[in-house]
Amino acid sequence: MAESKHSSSGRIVRDVESAAQRTYDLLVIGGGIQGVCMALEASRRGLNALLIERDDFGGATSWNSLRIVHGGLRYLQKLDLRRYRESVAERKWFCQNFPELVAPLSCVMPLYGRGLKRPGVFRLALALNDILSRERNAGLLPDSQIPCGRLWQADEVCQEVDNIDAHNLRGGGQWHDAVMVNPQRLLIELLRWACHVGAVGLNYVEAVDLHVDSDGVEEVVCRDRVAEREITFKAKAVVNCAGPWSRLLAAKFDCDLPRLYHPTLAFNVLLNRQPMSSSALALATKTGDEQIYFLLPYGDKILAGTAHLPWTGPLTRRQVRDDQLDSFLNGLNEVAPDLQLTRDAVLRVFSGFMPGVTAGGDKVSRRPIIHDHARHGGPRGLFSVSGVKYTTARDVAQKALYVVFAGGKRDLSYRPDTNRPPSNTPQLDLQHPDALLNGDDPQQGETLRRLVQDESVVYLDDLLLRRTDWLADPRNEAAIVKRVSTLLNWRGSKSIDDADGSNVLPAVRVLKQRDDNVSCD
Ligand SMILES: Cc1cc2nc3c(=O)[nH]c(=O)nc-3n(C[C@H](O)[C@H](O)[C@H](O)COP(=O)(O)OP(=O)(O)OC[C@H]3O[C@@H](n4cnc5c(N)ncnc54)[C@H](O)[C@@H]3O)c2cc1C
Repeated sequence: MAESKHSSSGRIVRDVESAAQRTYDLLVIGGGIQGVCMALEASRRGLNALLIERDDFGGATSWNSLRIVHGGLRYLQKLDLRRYRESVAERKWFCQNFPELVAPLSCVMPLYGRGLKRPGVFRLALALNDILSRERNAGLLPDSQIPCGRLWQADEVCQEVDNIDAHNLRGGGQWHDAVMVNPQRLLIELLRWACHVGAVGLNYVEAVDLHVDSDGVEEVVCRDRVAEREITFKAKAVVNCAGPWSRLLAAKFDCDLPRLYHPTLAFNVLLNRQPMSSSALALATKTGDEQIYFLLPYGDKILAGTAHLPWTGPLTRRQVRDDQLDSFLNGLNEVAPDLQLTRDAVLRVFSGFMPGVTAGGDKVSRRPIIHDHARHGGPRGLFSVSGVKYTTARDVAQKALYVVFAGGKRDLSYRPDTNRPPSNTPQLDLQHPDALLNGDDPQQGETLRRLVQDESVVYLDDLLLRRTDWLADPRNEAAIVKRVSTLLNWRGSKSIDDADGSNVLPAVRVLKQRDDNVSCD
């Protein structure tokens, strides 16, 4: 059991050797949002949890999300009330616990009067949404409260949205979701919380083998990708939260489980264009195809998503082809012609896999999967979990814990004193790099060093992409790398093979050469 008095204050300490001295109640494989939520929920319930991630925390699918904490209006339209309620509850949880990182987001859909997009129908959906989610703001700070939806007149849409096509426009439906100011920072804050209440989190540690004895799982053999050596961790239960790679891991440790994960490709693009509105826009084509283009204001740029495509290739690279990107840009040009998008406007492509309904299809699963391997003849104590959304990862983690620990026979209530520690807010803006680049505060180097130590930064890109948002706009890369390398006195560069090849920024992957814990070759 984890101790109730916590001394770490949310430090994520990468001490692989001492982590291997203990036996864990739960070993979680995969440090995306699903694995981090598993570690948090387990440790808040007094369980000893170890989280291992083969690359950096959150660097795979979770880094690529569109940043929406869904309130579930779309699920309501599909009458999927269970999913709707889960989403509303999780949005509230995020708004309540992370008011500085999750904020209400106004969303508007211009209505041209077809099917569900008729003003009358939309008004009903908005009213129902407000009634069914009437508890959504209980206990939230005023700035975190989710306002009611509203139907806009056509002229109001034209006033609020630049260059909107006014032909046949009949109004606009406005509802509110929430947006993650920085999903990666949110994931790190969740992990800091888990560590604060007793979890251990190790990045650059890859699970490679599972040992079982007559009682079930015994230990997981891992590769420490920094020290380049094998290390073994003992645990009573192992949960495979390896996202798109969960099926590969299930096959290695037990047997292939096709239903666990049929990969589909999804991507968003960061566009070098001024937002058309202060609200996020949900734009449908007039030809009536199903694709909705979501345009999220992102500072003075637009984050647009989400394209969903079939995927039959290997999971080693999730590269979006030029023709796929062009086709998405063509669709965006159809719904927002004034943006005049060409490939030159694309600053970054955020891509990842999502679990599909069928092999080779592009429909994303609706339900998570929690698989107890022992119930199907596999090792006792081995479980695989495949979630569908960032928004609901914590809810899935709670449900998985009840499956793992004997259907709730064990007391799984939260232990006292397991609330969130204060957020790590160094004297530096972790969102925008301006202060870093232009400021001359002599404390900057010290602040960065503390961030490196407290949040398990191994490589420079951990810091620039996954502890801060400084490289969201890649055009700043050279200046930021230079500034941070100088402040930290880090030298040299070394490429390591990236887990799935998509976030590779070789110039940034600068090895931390001064750290005694890191063996350099
Ligand atoms: C383009 C896109 C947009 C999206 N937008 C949204 C959105 O707006 N809102 C929302 O709620 N959801 C969104 N989603 C969905 C959401 O991002 C995912 O559901 C979520 O990030 C999946 O998290 P995960 O932890 O399951 O997977 P991942 O984040 O992929 O984590 C799995 C981890 O397992 C690690 N791993 C694999 N094998 C091993 C091993 N052997 N040993 C150790 N570690 C291993 C990997 O390195 C990886 O980090 C979006 C997804 C995509 C792709």
